[in-house]
Amino acid sequence: MSAASQPVEFGFQLLGTDGAARRGRVTTAHGTIETPAFMPVGTAATVKAMRPESVAETGAEILLGNTYHLMLRPGAERVAALGGLHKFMNWPKPILTDSGGFQVMSLAGLRKIEEKGVTFRSHIDGSVHFLSPERSVEIQHLLDSNITMVLDECTPHPATHEQALSSMELSMRWAQRSKDGFKKRPGYGLFGIVQGSVYPDLRKRSAEALASIGFDGYAVGGLAVGEGQEIMFRVLEETVPHLPADRPHYLMGVGKPADIVGAVQRGIDMFDCVLPTRSGRTAQAFTARGTVNLRNARHQDDPRPLEEGCPCPACTSCSRAYLHHLVRSEEILGLMLLTWHNLAYYQRLMAGLRAAIEAGSLEDFVAGFHETQAGGDIPALG
Ligand SMILES: [Zn+2]
Repeated sequence: MSAASQPVEFGFQLLGTDGAARRGRVTTAHGTIETPAFMPVGTAATVKAMRPESVAETGAEILLGNTYHLMLRPGAERVAALGGLHKFMNWPKPILTDSGGFQVMSLAGLRKIEEKGVTFRSHIDGSVHFLSPERSVEIQHLLDSNITMVLDECTPHPATHEQALSSMELSMRWAQRSKDGFKKRPGYGLFGIVQGSVYPDLRKRSAEALASIGFDGYAVGGLAVGEGQEIMFRVLEETVPHLPADRPHYLMGVGKPADIVGAVQRGIDMFDCVLPTRSGRTAQAFTARGTVNLRNARHQDDPRPLEEGCPCPACTSCSRAYLHHLVRSEEILGLMLLTWHNLAYYQRLMAGLRAAIEAGSLEDFVAGFHETQAGGDIPALG
């Protein structure tokens, strides 16, 4: 690259569609992301039990970092002084950070939500902190996050129409303040978050309010909070058509493989979820044939790999019997290998979805996905 090369602009290119599903590419200062994409969760500047090089080897092109955790420990100013999150955690590819709002609601003690922001106690040491839309955007800037999320109030489920309306309206005022506080840089973007619970009129109003403010991408928030897959898919069908089509669509905190497949069919481009990593640490493996519990005694004499054809080290260098032994012995290597496998499986699923959209064969791909999942794990011989 020449010294005179132009800085990369943040952008989204729509490369193709199949029904409502989209094949796209997000461009950032730290590289491109092929969509539909899955973002592994790197809560505390690490994808638990994985080296960043290994995460990249699974095919991941972007990680999610958690503002709440990083602001408390090690602190955003410290990360900035050390050169930003990419350098700090040795992940040179794109990073998206959440706003901290969701964790404040779910982890912090003694929180108080006001118009100006939210005051809360750290779950680590009880110290008092304040997070406003402006401060959240500033922290994410200090972290050097490529995709900054606006601070919003994740409306609890269930909520009445009245509760969902007032919560959504607060989030829209905070979205405007986040936009005002965001420092634009080439290759960095700011995403708005649609709220409105399960109410189509509120989701539409929220999407339109965000579009009129103008963001680099649009997330659907407040789902995967216990409403169930059927309601989630319905809300997506009622929400995604109101999002600007020339920007990426991100479904926050989702999900199981079947949730992701269904959301891609409904026009979602980006996902994040702790499921593959968290399940890897509790002996649950995701495969094309559904979930496999390596703790189960049926694996103790099984010389086969966890999943035939998977290029991850758990499958190429270990038997199910060995993985079972590691899990039962509570060896650290067991959770490392299963985390690696699960991330590899999720990235393989996304690659399959992308190829199917490109080929115009998503319907067949989805039918095959469900058929193989329903078929279940093949039992060992003998
Ligand atoms: Zn594997």
